[in-house]
Amino acid sequence: MTAAVCVQNLHKVYGNVHVVKDLSLLIQPGESFGLLGPNGAGKSTTIRMLTTLTQPSDGNLVVAGHDVQRQPTQVREQIGVVLQQTSVDGDLTVWENMELHGRMHHIPAGPRQKRIQEWLDFVELSDRRDSKVKTLSGGMKRRLQIARALLHNPKILFLDEPTVGLDPQARRRLWEIIRNLNRQGMTMLLTSHYMEEVEFLCDRVGILDQGQLIELGTVEELRQKHGEGIVMKQQGDRWDYQFFPTLVAANEYFDQQPDKTGMMTRPSNLEDIFVELTGRNLD
Ligand code: ADP
Repeated sequence: MTAAVCVQNLHKVYGNVHVVKDLSLLIQPGESFGLLGPNGAGKSTTIRMLTTLTQPSDGNLVVAGHDVQRQPTQVREQIGVVLQQTSVDGDLTVWENMELHGRMHHIPAGPRQKRIQEWLDFVELSDRRDSKVKTLSGGMKRRLQIARALLHNPKILFLDEPTVGLDPQARRRLWEIIRNLNRQGMTMLLTSHYMEEVEFLCDRVGILDQGQLIELGTVEELRQKHGEGIVMKQQGDRWDYQFFPTLVAANEYFDQQPDKTGMMTRPSNLEDIFVELTGRNLD
């Protein structure tokens, strides 16, 4: 099976700042992949290189079977892109924004109207089709961006921080939409600095820190590698963590402690692993 996304030894240097360092990864068709990392880790730069918007300094990129540097037009036909900066036109209506995108992709009028209707239904925006985009909430604008990115039937959807700045309800709604798309077979690469977003949406996770991929796998694989059980101990106003291979092992250690004041055990999660690897919290 040809990989949906193939990244080999990718580098990006701005001036003398090396922002993406020797990144290699494969994403299979149908997979939902999350690139996780703190602000400034290089996530957006990576997405911009994969979607033909930024030139790599070095490395090979193949997306949907096409070389990104040599065949950017073919790549663009096969991908949908939802970037952080809302690029929908506020003075046009929801429907007009979709029309504009459909025409730019030369989708003939008949199928265009049908697809616009279908995707607006899918993102639950049909009842706002004649509203000016500037009157929509942040969550609705993001849903419109997704509908628009899907209009030309892409094979792979790239989402850069899809829910940043949204309230919890809007975020949940967007998660359901994104998950449904993936269940229908859409390959996805999304970036996020929200742990729970990546845990909810992604089959596999890559942790990017200071331009380097420092971990790669499913959340379960990462938990098995770093330890599935945690013993926490309160030290003043901070918590010390200790990983154990299993929760049972963590509980056994806990039971042996003569003084259990300020101590607790629990299963590990992605955030514990991130903090363990980078020594930093995400937010
Ligand atoms: P993230 O998406 O993980 O927050 P970015 O990819 O946006 O990280 O940024 C990675 C680093 O690259 C940051 O230090 C940022 O300041 C720098 N950077 C991003 N774009 C440019 C640019 N066009 N010119 C110079 N530096 C840039």
